[in-house]
Amino acid sequence: MELRHKAESDHEFASAPLLQPTSEIQQIPADYLPLRFSNKYVNGPRHLLPAWREVESRLQSADRVALFMDFDGTLVPIAPWPDQVRLSPRMREHVESIARKDVMVGIVSGRRLADLRSRAAVGGIWYVGTHGYFLRRSGGPTVTLLNPEQKAEMAHVSRRLARELRNIPGVLLESKQATVAVHYRHASRPNYRKVFASIRRLLQDRPQLSLLPGKKVWELFPGASVSKWTAIKYILELEQRLRKSPCLVVYLGDDAMDERVFHQMQGISVVVGRHRRTAAEFFLNSTAEVEQFLERFSEVLT
Ligand SMILES: [Mg+2]
Repeated sequence: MELRHKAESDHEFASAPLLQPTSEIQQIPADYLPLRFSNKYVNGPRHLLPAWREVESRLQSADRVALFMDFDGTLVPIAPWPDQVRLSPRMREHVESIARKDVMVGIVSGRRLADLRSRAAVGGIWYVGTHGYFLRRSGGPTVTLLNPEQKAEMAHVSRRLARELRNIPGVLLESKQATVAVHYRHASRPNYRKVFASIRRLLQDRPQLSLLPGKKVWELFPGASVSKWTAIKYILELEQRLRKSPCLVVYLGDDAMDERVFHQMQGISVVVGRHRRTAAEFFLNSTAEVEQFLERFSEVLT
């Protein structure tokens, strides 16, 4: 894969007035859901906290450990608007304490890289933004997995949606260079339908695009070649050049994008929230339980 070093440009935000939340993700027609959720572990995920002793011994017996975590819904609770969250001081303390030990730590998010870094504000770790398209280690250069053709394509998508959705209240369009996110948490049901009709027309005109659903958001991607897992693999391979010993990967996430990681990774996978169908091995009920987990994690490794 070709990699280029490159600075992120500023994003545009087209905000709209607030309306009562109504719509649900399940209303998306099935043929627009490219992800099939299925259990990778026969009995589904187990609650991690009661299984802590087992997890602890796996961490202790590993040569090296890498901890990657999603941000929204995993390290911070989901907020009504995406600009309302910040990492709590206690959570930051745990993440920093783990990063100071011999553990590779990364926060892997759908947010733009600069936005993610400012909201997490933890030093000495990896940050992955826009679902794997932008990567950066604290103090290092930004690496992008986006090619110029894809960049031009997504700029077109952003302009077209901004034009078509500009008069629909309750919809927030977020252009993230590599992807375009349409937040509909505050859209009424008729407005939600208009938005989806517009996205459907776009996908008919440009079949190479992928559409992925998140929590009250649809996100358009230039294709399916890059994911959070692509970025994590890139980081692991980079670190592997410096140290050859095998690495136990721990990944925490709560969303459809994280399911791709759970499906492809080996190691300890943890879904946040109650999901009946998931490829994760364990679950934690809430971000509060994630905090308990990270506190214990930081005490295990020296
Ligand atoms: Mg999330």
